[in-house]
Amino acid sequence: MTNWDAKLIRPSAPRLSVLQQAHALFEQQRETWDLFRDNEAMLAEMKIKIFSKDNRRIVVQANPGRTVSTSAKVDPASIAERPCFLCPDSIPPLERGISFGDYILLPNPYPVLKHHMTIAFRDHVPQILEGRINDLLALTKALGPEMFVLYNGPRCGASAPDHMHFQACSGDNVPLFKQLPAAADNGQVVPLTVWGRNMLVCGCREVQQARNRIGLIINSLKAITGETEEPMFNIVAQYRDGRYIITIFPRAKHRSACYFARPQKRILISPAAIEMAGIIVVANADHFDRVDETVVHSMFREVTFGDDLFSRLAEAVT
Ligand SMILES: [Zn+2]
Repeated sequence: MTNWDAKLIRPSAPRLSVLQQAHALFEQQRETWDLFRDNEAMLAEMKIKIFSKDNRRIVVQANPGRTVSTSAKVDPASIAERPCFLCPDSIPPLERGISFGDYILLPNPYPVLKHHMTIAFRDHVPQILEGRINDLLALTKALGPEMFVLYNGPRCGASAPDHMHFQACSGDNVPLFKQLPAAADNGQVVPLTVWGRNMLVCGCREVQQARNRIGLIINSLKAITGETEEPMFNIVAQYRDGRYIITIFPRAKHRSACYFARPQKRILISPAAIEMAGIIVVANADHFDRVDETVVHSMFREVTFGDDLFSRLAEAVT
């Protein structure tokens, strides 16, 4: 296994929860890593605009720190050429992490939300959820109700498709969590469309049931799309009131037409789980000014799994 020892902060007391350890890690990083501290402080200053339809919000955030991420080249050749920013030898020199099972929790130096972390698998292995649904659920439960955990598929949002990782962020002010139906806890899967995004939501008390539902949805998606690789989807998961609340966004494509438009019209948005959860990140200030409700709606319509196929998927899993 890859050696992370020199990069880890040890718990200062026995039996600290993962969340308490993560808070201590953030404190340590603020004290020792100027870039991290400054970028985190900038979060509160960022320009945002809010669109609302039927009381359901979308937040657009102007976040200059995300330039690299929103314009990241994720084709295999570009990935092969760059050092991996989730391997211990090439993470930023001042970055430190904490250990959780087979994963390392690392603070994101270009955060979108409070307590934004990247949760990297210890070894450099490709991004794929198969065999790791239990890890996703264990992290979600361990981080508890103030956080949420997300997974981006390697072809629809992961900026390191070559290195297995999840992310976690504070759930404060994330529009999705106010748009979900009151969570059932019987594992029933509910289809939902908000702002043009098609999603499947389910609440489960038991971890096995949550794992089975996610597995069923992915397998059904695979059957409907005929994909041999992992089909495209983003997952947002939160553990609250004794339940795993899982939202899966099946996807038709990674980036929408506005990403590829001519320069005067271009808007670099790379929709991934955070965007699907209602926080749209735009790095460039001019592009931020171009975003209106129509742009948001058509972007979601383009990248979401199409309505006909989504109906078939919903039928197969509900
Ligand atoms: Zn790596």
